[in-house]
Amino acid sequence: MTDLQIHQFPCLSDNYGFLVHDIESGETACIDTPETAPIMAALAETGWQLTQIWNTHHHYDHAGNNEEIKRATGCTITGPAGEADKIPGLDRAVDEGDVVMLGAHQARILNVGGHTLGHIAYHMDGHAFVGDSLFALGCGRVFEGTMAQMWDSLQKLNALPDGTQIYCAHEYTTANAAFAVTIDPDNQALQARVAEIAALRAADKPTVPTEIALERATNPFLRATDAGVQAHLNMAGAAAVDVFAEIRQRKDNF
Ligand code: ZN
Ligand code: FE
Repeated sequence: MTDLQIHQFPCLSDNYGFLVHDIESGETACIDTPETAPIMAALAETGWQLTQIWNTHHHYDHAGNNEEIKRATGCTITGPAGEADKIPGLDRAVDEGDVVMLGAHQARILNVGGHTLGHIAYHMDGHAFVGDSLFALGCGRVFEGTMAQMWDSLQKLNALPDGTQIYCAHEYTTANAAFAVTIDPDNQALQARVAEIAALRAADKPTVPTEIALERATNPFLRATDAGVQAHLNMAGAAAVDVFAEIRQRKDNF
């Protein structure tokens, strides 16, 4: 359990790249392929040899450099079954309930479709690599799926145990925080977090990974069942999915 190492680094304008390394087997997985040069630099810096790419969804800033990195490293590529035709160089298609191994470590696949139809997350040893499904204080735009599908997907992440580290694919937290306080203005935990986020970003530090219990307490997209949020939206007693849809639509227009 303790011999996994995670190396996080910025890519493009606001993406994060992640390398996951198992010391015992020497295997290394790269979560998505946002940009080749920083991924190759991270491999050189760590001295880790890439053996796998794990894709979360088909968008270019997640799978666009698959083939270039596969050619350079000889790694294999695992990705979402629901988007198999859109994942360059895919070797293995996986979906909900499947298991992907990194050495002796198991990553369990969750289908978190909504942002894209087949979007998956990888959950292993208290870490969840969630792509563009859940963000710190936010969630992905619902481009391909329905609001109901996205809400259902977020509930799977919401069900992960306290302490689970959430590795989101983007540093969107400052903008998400500005929106969150318009939905949940009386939430003391959110206010405290907004101050922490401002301090981290002022020091040019990442707000990722986040932690699921913190998201439960402060992320408006996980709080559609909260009485305070519902009252603020004049939606007391409404179905959670309708409250979620209202929050998502407000964010799209924020
Ligand atoms: Zn995306
Ligand atoms: Fe993205």
